[in-house]
Amino acid sequence: MKSKRLFREAQKHIPSGVNSPVRAFRAVGGTPVFIEKGKGAFLYDADGRRYLDFCLSWGPLIFGHAPEGLVKAVQKAAAAGTSFGASTRREVEVARLIKEAFPSIEKVRLVSSGTEAVMSAVRLARGVTARKKILKIEGGYHGHVDSLLVKAGSGSATFGRPDSLGIPPELSRLTLTVPFNDFTALDRVFKREGKNLAAFILEPVPANMGVVLPKPGYLERIRSLTKQFGTLLIFDEVITGFRLAFGGAQEKFRIEADLTCLGKILGGGLPLAAFGGKAKWTDALAPTGGVYQAGTLSGNPLATAASLWMLKSLSREKIYRELDRKAGHFFSEIENRIEHYRWPVQLNSIGSMFTLFFTPKAVIDFRSAKRSNTRSYAKFFHGLLRQGIYLAPSQFEANFLSSGHRPSELARTVRIFERVLKRIF
Ligand code: PMP
Repeated sequence: MKSKRLFREAQKHIPSGVNSPVRAFRAVGGTPVFIEKGKGAFLYDADGRRYLDFCLSWGPLIFGHAPEGLVKAVQKAAAAGTSFGASTRREVEVARLIKEAFPSIEKVRLVSSGTEAVMSAVRLARGVTARKKILKIEGGYHGHVDSLLVKAGSGSATFGRPDSLGIPPELSRLTLTVPFNDFTALDRVFKREGKNLAAFILEPVPANMGVVLPKPGYLERIRSLTKQFGTLLIFDEVITGFRLAFGGAQEKFRIEADLTCLGKILGGGLPLAAFGGKAKWTDALAPTGGVYQAGTLSGNPLATAASLWMLKSLSREKIYRELDRKAGHFFSEIENRIEHYRWPVQLNSIGSMFTLFFTPKAVIDFRSAKRSNTRSYAKFFHGLLRQGIYLAPSQFEANFLSSGHRPSELARTVRIFERVLKRIF
């Protein structure tokens, strides 16, 4: 088993053998598979096994692995130089297309990771409001930003250790949290702290406690409270941006954020992310303004070449309608099986993203998500893996479909889900 050998070797040189914690499979046990290549909806591991991929690099690959046009664009860009540390035409084009997708963005800066986008947006919000505190959702994950590793989801949720060591309590005390979908808690925190809050940052559709949908009126209530108290509303659309619609959750729910963070699909699998909003805020960034933010590789030529191909393809094609229809059919087939067998699981889904929670009760926030039986999820995950299906290796994550997932493969997936779940329950 090459994966096993590679993982043993990796552990000698890389902390826990991985460059990002969830990859270590701690939440599901077993040895992580080492990937050799990906094509379309499929992943191929070091042992030559093929998997239908629903993790899709945690979201970016809405066209599947290695789309030809993107590969060509990146190859061409690489031949012309991998980095200049000076401005290029493509950065301007990417910014213009981002604005087309997100009308709430007047100006946008490119960075290299979602973490960086969020960190910069929070600093900007603190800078322009001259306030210190920020509000986030319990179970919301925004990258490994010091201030936001408080009651965080994703990898830190499965480790049962929501806060990281190494973050001064003086800093995390400035981060307040509320449970998602709880109107009363929301009103209460704004009444008490509204005028001290620089920003309310949230994933409009949380995906890092698994996918959880906002109750009707919840995002609207957030929008009106933030406006009333002069708190900047930051939508972290690193996952939902270009996923739920070309204009992300803001288009889907018709709500405009003050600042928006983007990543994942934006770079099509290359390191690219962005943050932006109304010019009256973004003009506070250096060198015009006093909020410092910078990056050697920001707007990298390879990443912007990939991004331009992604954004042009997404804006041109009717991809969302087709993808959502295909996904909707897949989800209803799973739902039918859940009802038929009365399995104690919940399928939460929107557009082309989903989570299957191993709990009998509806999942509406972090607390209800955490009631899930993670041991059953681990069995489910490995049962699927053995059958050539690769899901996110943790209960508290979103899974995705791509335009490369063919209906016949999805039908086969439903049959395998059924077989594996019958064995668990
Ligand atoms: N925000 C959200 C909503 C995310 O899901 C993630 C990563 N999963 C991030 C921010 C951080 O992005 P990155 O891993 O690129 O730093």
